[in-house]
Amino acid sequence: MLDSCQRNITYLRLSVTELCNLRCRYCMPEEGVCKKRHEDMLTQEEMLLAVRVCASLGICKVRITGGEPLVKPNILSLCRETAATEGIEELCLTTNGTLLPKVAQLLKEAGVDRLNISLDTLDEAKYRHITRGGELAEAMEGIHAALDARFRKIKINTVLIGGFNVEEIAALAELTRQFPVDVRFIELMPIGNSREFGPEAYVPNTVVLEKLPELEALPADGSVARLYRLPGARGNIGLISPVSAHFCATCNRIRITADGKVKPCLHSSDEISIKGMNEEQMRETIKTAILEKPQWHGELSYYEPSHAARNMNQIGG
Ligand code: SAM
Ligand code: SF4
Repeated sequence: MLDSCQRNITYLRLSVTELCNLRCRYCMPEEGVCKKRHEDMLTQEEMLLAVRVCASLGICKVRITGGEPLVKPNILSLCRETAATEGIEELCLTTNGTLLPKVAQLLKEAGVDRLNISLDTLDEAKYRHITRGGELAEAMEGIHAALDARFRKIKINTVLIGGFNVEEIAALAELTRQFPVDVRFIELMPIGNSREFGPEAYVPNTVVLEKLPELEALPADGSVARLYRLPGARGNIGLISPVSAHFCATCNRIRITADGKVKPCLHSSDEISIKGMNEEQMRETIKTAILEKPQWHGELSYYEPSHAARNMNQIGG
């Protein structure tokens, strides 16, 4: 379905939980989230109804995210039913990877085509620091389990943080030579908890080009990333620049949060509830949300933070 700026909205990011087994400093508070009442969250049936309604409005790609989607007990059946929904051509999932060793193969069998795995550092102590207690070895085992399960595509997502991982850009990029994976460097966004990082943490993605002069530019593939490749690499390097070069003009996505709010734009405070609705009400509400999708989210910087009134784990990154 076209929005009022003639953008074709084909991509749903569905957050299936706000909970997580890690506590990344830029994403959620140390104490975690105050668990909401079960009855305030979308049920699995409501999530699947929302997927069907979105598919009927022209959505053909779904990304399951969170919080950490793999802490959700019914994640496999949710993936299986989403993948089987008429009109859904591609099912992707974003995860911190630590729980993949047990479920990577099962996710593949349930119909997940592509996996994004978040990894901000290759240093054990720094991993423990940024995730507030996570184990790097578990994330690496998760990446290996995903490789063994042979997803159509595996992308490693690294949030670039000044003063934390800029000196690891080359080592992280090297993963594209070691494994058939893409590595994407994403600018830190001034949203929710990440505001606790000072202004120096917000580095533009161009620093990757400075650190890796041997990168060769590739043609655009229609995604939000600018693509490059290291000579001899098996995967691409992607630069995603939501802060220094927003992609609102080509944004084709809407979001649905685990508590049932449709968010037409990540950085806007606009939210419309679909909790408890029947199919027809949901269709009208999601149509309205698409039509009301803002043209752009305004400037973003440490000094001009996101208008989203939530942490990322409560939206779905
Ligand atoms: N738990 C899963 C994970 O970590 O991949 C999925 C949810 S997480 C909110 C999705 C993505 O959002 C992760 O790649 C995470 O690094 C990213 N993210 C969270 N807060 C962010 C911020 N302030 N700026 C940029 N990316 C952020
Ligand atoms: Fe959890 Fe993902 Fe947020 Fe880290 S980025 S706290 S893994 S939801």
